[in-house]
Amino acid sequence: MNIYLDNAATTAIDSEVLNAMMPYLYRFYGNPSSNHSIGRKAHEAIEASRKVIADILNVYPEEIFFTSGATEANNWAITSSLETYKIKHVITSPIEHKSILETYTEHFYKNKIKLSFVNLDKKGNVNLSHLGKLLAQTPRSLVSLMHVNNEIGNITNLEEVSETAKAYRAVVHSDTVQSLGKLNLNLDSNGVDFAVGSAHKIHGPKGIGLLFARKRTNLNTLLHGGGQERGYRGGTENVASIVGFAKALEIAQSNIEKNKKHHNILKERLINSLLRIGLEDFEFNGESDSFTNSLPNILNVRFPSLPYNKLLLNILDEQGIQVSSGSACLNLSKGGSHVISALYPKSDGENVRFSFSKYNSLFEIDTVARIISRVFKSDKRKIIANELVFAHA
Ligand code: PMP
Repeated sequence: MNIYLDNAATTAIDSEVLNAMMPYLYRFYGNPSSNHSIGRKAHEAIEASRKVIADILNVYPEEIFFTSGATEANNWAITSSLETYKIKHVITSPIEHKSILETYTEHFYKNKIKLSFVNLDKKGNVNLSHLGKLLAQTPRSLVSLMHVNNEIGNITNLEEVSETAKAYRAVVHSDTVQSLGKLNLNLDSNGVDFAVGSAHKIHGPKGIGLLFARKRTNLNTLLHGGGQERGYRGGTENVASIVGFAKALEIAQSNIEKNKKHHNILKERLINSLLRIGLEDFEFNGESDSFTNSLPNILNVRFPSLPYNKLLLNILDEQGIQVSSGSACLNLSKGGSHVISALYPKSDGENVRFSFSKYNSLFEIDTVARIISRVFKSDKRKIIANELVFAHA
């Protein structure tokens, strides 16, 4: 049995995406900068993909830059903005992705910027009037606030953030990785100057992302080289992955409402099944159990600790169920989640993020809920001995 519920970390590639990519791995292998037919074919595929993505996001193709992923795009947007706008003050939140927080802390420790954190409410929502106050004290700041939090699913109203920021001539950057292809993201109307995306979160390939930089904004050259990406990012393009990214976004975008509905059905079933277990010291983190304030495919749960330091995450893994204890990027290094510790510094227990995709079914959710129920209803002896043999009842 394999039940994959870690889709906020990464997703399985869609076969339609893979099929779209194949010709550019095999037949049209020309260098997109080469002036011959198979080179031109590759170049045309890149520009057609850029146009598909730009149209979906309601922006100009020249505003889309392909990168190796969202980590690179976040680093690029931030470092470039600090330099080209000569910004000395940044406003962000403690629950941003590490590619943002660590970029800022590096600049902070080098005494290049002052760093302010906007207040969040108990569930992790941005306090907009505090943002306004911070901006009033230091106009012309750089504001970095993510659209959807990758751990607790909270949705931030980007229109309101931009409106507040623009009143103080601030530059706005937003990590839109989790909302791209899952919510209607209109970059023309939401007012942000920089946004980012990553194909592997929407059933596309890994190692390809994008930076959206509004036309009138300043952008530094990231990589000097052969003049690719209009001279801003040298290096031979990842043609097949760019094609795959566009296809993945096309599919995701045309199924947004259907997927939202499906994810909300799965979320509701999991919420109800977990509540029925009747655990004490059990909570849903952030807004993740809300059907309006969080991304439908994310549910983050605090379970009571299991005896003898056993982790539910590991027990589920042994049963063929993959979930996450927070963000996958963090699991690799220190363990624990900076988002959960920022919001619930005193809480103990085990935090588990379930994140769904279009490939998950209600049967899978029921199976996971049944296994979790058995774990918590088993006596301590069984948990210690890992005797949770379920025969997948
Ligand atoms: N931002 C967010 C919100 C993410 O969830 C991730 C992926 N963990 C990233 C940025 C980094 O994306 P990539 O893997 O494409 O570098």
